[in-house]
Amino acid sequence: MSNLDREPVPAVCGGRGFVVAEPVRELLSPRRVMLGETTEVRRLLPNLGRRMVGAWCFVDHYGPDDIADEPGMQVPPHPHMGLQTVSWLHDGEVLHRDSTGGLQTIRPRQLGLMTSGRAISHSEESPGSHARLLHGAQLWIALPDSHRSTDPRFEFHPELPVVTAPGLTATLILGRLDGAVSPGTTYTPLVGADLALARGADVRLPLEPDFEYAVLSMSGEAHVDGVPVLPGSLLYLGCGRSELPLRAESDAGLMLLGGEPFEEELVMFWNFIGRTQEEIEQARHDWQTGTRFGEVKGYDGDPLPAPELPSAPLKRRGRVR
Ligand code: MN
Repeated sequence: MSNLDREPVPAVCGGRGFVVAEPVRELLSPRRVMLGETTEVRRLLPNLGRRMVGAWCFVDHYGPDDIADEPGMQVPPHPHMGLQTVSWLHDGEVLHRDSTGGLQTIRPRQLGLMTSGRAISHSEESPGSHARLLHGAQLWIALPDSHRSTDPRFEFHPELPVVTAPGLTATLILGRLDGAVSPGTTYTPLVGADLALARGADVRLPLEPDFEYAVLSMSGEAHVDGVPVLPGSLLYLGCGRSELPLRAESDAGLMLLGGEPFEEELVMFWNFIGRTQEEIEQARHDWQTGTRFGEVKGYDGDPLPAPELPSAPLKRRGRVR
């Protein structure tokens, strides 16, 4: 997935100043963003009131959309730098192509994990023959300074560890949960898990008190620490929790996102994460001139042009609105 906003503004995020050290319940509403001509996504991160949760720095929720008679997702080749992307589906499929030669159809509850390192480009599309419904989330994880120049790579993990409790099936996407460990590569301590709750479920999920957490609602009606959370919203939970009470009023799908608070300050612009505006300018220039980010083969269409970088200096934005 790409940030297709045509007038993105560079933003500084990360750093301890944004982190809430104690447990909180902060319900964040999405911003509606068009992805290409037809797909509307709900952007939860970055949000007006919050930019990161651990190293998680971008969260889009889309669907369920009926794409039976439509092309579905069509995101042309575009670059990334300084981050990992996670493709996570509840319905449908996405065909991923990248400049390392990666070519993979990703299906529900399979992990497509792309590490951009210093430079990668990729495209994402609904295959010509696709399921009626498309429903999923696209997430980015910021890479720490020590690993942000690593080689680009794509990992596909069709089998992931599953943790169960009465009424709960948790699929571990990344990191650790209740003794299970994901095979996906991570560069900072974090967790991502898909939580399928059955109607009537009433469980407590073990958490790491040092982590910062949030829960994304994908479907159904669930109460997270007593707060009703509807699909397309994100409940920020802060730090200092050793468990999380979950209740489901109906069958419900949630995603748990968490991690050690990200200490480094970042500059995010379009599909790039760097540390300075100069780095971002260089990345933009390299993409526009066809260097460094490689080539995506087989996508039927032109690559995405990079938007203009505003000339105004970077804005530092606080956590508080
Ligand atoms: Mn992308």
